[in-house]
Amino acid sequence: MKQCTKCKAEYKDVESNFYKNKQFKDGYSSWCKKCSNKYHTNYFKNPKAKEKEKIYQKKYHKEWNKKNRNYTNPKKKIREKAREIKS
Ligand SMILES: [Zn+2]
Repeated sequence: MKQCTKCKAEYKDVESNFYKNKQFKDGYSSWCKKCSNKYHTNYFKNPKAKEKEKIYQKKYHKEWNKKNRNYTNPKKKIREKAREIKS
């Protein structure tokens, strides 16, 4: 089961609904094939789509960074603790 991050649809059959992409942890693109195809056709049709996409990506990265920051926090705490023990 995988959820498309663009249209939020959930797919049981990941292999036939998502393009393979090695850049992603699970080996599949985060967008379903429908969204990927739609995006690519819009991209060439409409120059405004490019700008919209930029905004979406910016927002997505902001959210990712937020999550990532929270994720690295415990590690930082451990490092700080280790430093305390050393000194
Ligand atoms: Zn989708």
